[in-house]
Amino acid sequence: MVPNKDELLGKDIEELESYMISIGEAAFRARQIFKWIYSKEVNSFYDMSDLPRELRKKLDTMAQISIPRVLKQRVSQDGTRKYLLELRDKKRIESVLIPQGSGKNSRYTICVSTQVGCPIGCSFCATGQAGFQRNLDYFEIVGQVLGSRRELKRKLKSNEENLISNVVYMGMGEPLLNYNEMIKSIYMLNHPKGLGIGQRHITVSTAGEASGIKRLADEGMQITLAVSLHACDDTLRNHLVPLNRKYPLSALRDAIEYYISVTNRRVTFEYVLLDEVNMSKRDARNMIRLLKPLLANVNLIPYNEVDGLDYTKPSPPRIQQFFAWLAEGGLNVTLREEKGSDIMAACGQLKAGYSKMYRN
Ligand code: SF4
Repeated sequence: MVPNKDELLGKDIEELESYMISIGEAAFRARQIFKWIYSKEVNSFYDMSDLPRELRKKLDTMAQISIPRVLKQRVSQDGTRKYLLELRDKKRIESVLIPQGSGKNSRYTICVSTQVGCPIGCSFCATGQAGFQRNLDYFEIVGQVLGSRRELKRKLKSNEENLISNVVYMGMGEPLLNYNEMIKSIYMLNHPKGLGIGQRHITVSTAGEASGIKRLADEGMQITLAVSLHACDDTLRNHLVPLNRKYPLSALRDAIEYYISVTNRRVTFEYVLLDEVNMSKRDARNMIRLLKPLLANVNLIPYNEVDGLDYTKPSPPRIQQFFAWLAEGGLNVTLREEKGSDIMAACGQLKAGYSKMYRN
C-alpha cells in the first residue's frame, strides 16, 4: 500500500471535479479520468493518453486508483470463473463470474465479496471457517467489479463495457455487517455514469442481519434481498448459522415482514441442502409454516462439499423428495443450477487461502 496518496477510485464525477480544482487543475480533466477508470479499468495515470504528460506525472505522485489485481484464476467446465484478487494491503479476496447465456451476447453475473473472510462462521462454509480479517471499503467493492471485468475482457478479447450485467453480494463476508460501504458501492455500480448496472440487477444476500434488513428497507432501492435461511428451527439454525443466536427466527421474520411491507418486493430465501441435517419432512413442514405467509421464493442449493468439513451433498432422489414436499405445501421453490463447484467457486466454497486451487 502506498501511504498518503489520495484514492480516486469510487469518486463520482462531481467529487473528481472538486479534487482536480483542489490540486489546481481544470475541472474538465475529471471526466477524462472518470472515463479511463470506468470504461477502460485503467489504474495507471501514465496510460491516460489524453492527459498532458506533466499532469500524468503530478497525479502519479499525489493520487492512486486502487483497482485490485487478479492474481490467479480458474475456469470451470461450465464457464464459471473464479478470481483471486489482491487489495492495496495485500489482503486477498475472491470473486466469481457466472456466464448467463452463450455466444457473442453472453453476459456475466459477478458474485462480489464485501469482507476479507467472514465473522459469521457458518459451520458448513469455507469462508466462515477461515475467520474474519477486515471490511472492504466501498471503492474496493467497486474495484473488485472493475478488476474482474478488466481480466475478463482480456481473456475474452472483448471491449464490451456491459460484459457484467448483474451483481450479487454473495461472496466472502456478510454484506449487512459492512452496511455503509455496501450501500455506497451499490450507488456507484448503479450510477449511469459509473457502471450503470440497474438496481433490479443487484442482489444483496444476508445470513439474517435483522437490523440491517430493516435499514435496507428504508433505502428505497429496487434491489433484491436474499436471505440465507438453511434451517427453520432455532436449535438447528443456531448451529448452522451462529448469527441466529443474536437474531432468532422470530426476529428475522419481523425484519423480513417489515422489508416486504415497505418495499413491496418479494424476498428470496436460500436453503443449502445438507444430507441428513436439514432435509426431513419436519424441516419441510417448518419451512412451509414460516415462509408461506411471506409469498417467498425459495432457492434450494445442493451442498458443495468442502475439504475438512463433515457435511455431505444429498443424492438426487433425496433432493427431489424435499423439493416435492415444499412444492406440495404451496411454496414457490426452485432448485439452483450448480455453477463452478469443480473449481470451488460455488456457494460456501470461497476461501482466498486456497492457492493450491488455482492454476494460471
Ligand atoms: S455462508 Fe455467508 S455468512 Fe455464513 S460464514 Fe459463509 S460467507 Fe459468512
